[in-house]
Amino acid sequence: MRIVLLGAPGAGKGTVAKQLTAFDGSVQISTGDLLRAAVKAGTPLGRQAQAYMERGDLVPDRLIMGMVEQRFQEHPGEGFILDGFPRTIPQAVSLGLLLKGLDLPLHLVVNLAVPEEVILDRLTTRRTCSNPGCNAIYNVKSNPPAPDGTCRACGCSVIQREDETPAAIARRLEVYRQQTNPLVGHYQRTGLLLTVEELDTAAIVKTIAGALATQVA
Ligand SMILES: [Zn+2]
Repeated sequence: MRIVLLGAPGAGKGTVAKQLTAFDGSVQISTGDLLRAAVKAGTPLGRQAQAYMERGDLVPDRLIMGMVEQRFQEHPGEGFILDGFPRTIPQAVSLGLLLKGLDLPLHLVVNLAVPEEVILDRLTTRRTCSNPGCNAIYNVKSNPPAPDGTCRACGCSVIQREDETPAAIARRLEVYRQQTNPLVGHYQRTGLLLTVEELDTAAIVKTIAGALATQVA
């Protein structure tokens, strides 16, 4: 399968992508992972990106696109689930041109349409282990840390990340609305958009699989 997953922070893109990889061995690709791997490996694109990051600047689209292109070229014929990319219309246009050039048309663009109150509830109840080598994730409602507030895996303190406070999440959702929502319209025009309103991961995956069965055939 070749699909793009759209959805706000906390919509569950990563979880859904992981489940989809089990279907046919397609790989989950996130630009964050590509970027970290390129920097770590010290590739030419990675070194350029690192210079921006060290200055505290955003890594420009052309570098991100270069890494995506390299990934596709290194693994020709491999199915993929793009997780959280593209984020903007210019990225979507570049991706479209790239995939057209490689003759790898998308099968589906899935929009995980999770209501904002659900996202707020999911993210503000999330807690993360403060040990960078562990990073276990908890939820004060559904998967709490140990009774004394420490990590069940390593015993370090469990914290609320700064970008997961209610104010920070409201800001992230606002950025998402402004930047990424236009993508929904963009992909609607291409006839590839599938809007999924289910909240349960199993139900989401089932809906996507049903839609793919008609697209890939
Ligand atoms: Zn831990």
